[in-house]
Amino acid sequence: MLKEIPVKTSRRIELVNITGEVEQAAKESRIQNGICVVYTPHTTAAITINENADPDVIADIIAKLNELVPENGGYSHSEGNSDAHIKSSLLGCEKTLLIKQGKLLLGTWQGIYFCEFDGPRERKVLIKIQNSD
Ligand code: ZN
Repeated sequence: MLKEIPVKTSRRIELVNITGEVEQAAKESRIQNGICVVYTPHTTAAITINENADPDVIADIIAKLNELVPENGGYSHSEGNSDAHIKSSLLGCEKTLLIKQGKLLLGTWQGIYFCEFDGPRERKVLIKIQNSD
C-alpha cells in the first residue's frame, strides 16, 4: 500500500507531528506485521523521529540546527536556501518503521515529524507499507 498525505506548513522552519497520519495509514493497510517507510520527496524538507511529550525538545532541535547551519552562511547556491538543503541532508528524507500486530512499533515518547526547512509551502509525505511475514 502506498498513501500520499499532504502537509501544509506555515513557517520557514517548522516540525509538524505526523504520527497520527502514519498510524492511520498503518491501520488502513490492515497489515499485521510489516515495514512502513515514511518518505518525503523534497530537497528542503526531512523526516525525523523524536520526543513527542516536551515541545522544548523540538524547539531545541530547530535552534541547534539554525546555529549549526545558519540561513545566511555565505553559500554558493543562487536560490538562497542552501541552509534548507543542508538541514534536509543532515536529517534525511525518509525513516523506516516496524509494524507488529497491526500497530506501529514506536516508543512511548517517540513521534514522527515532517521537517520543513524552507516554508511555508504545501508538501507531501509518502507512506509505503509492506507485509513482512
Ligand atoms: Zn535551492
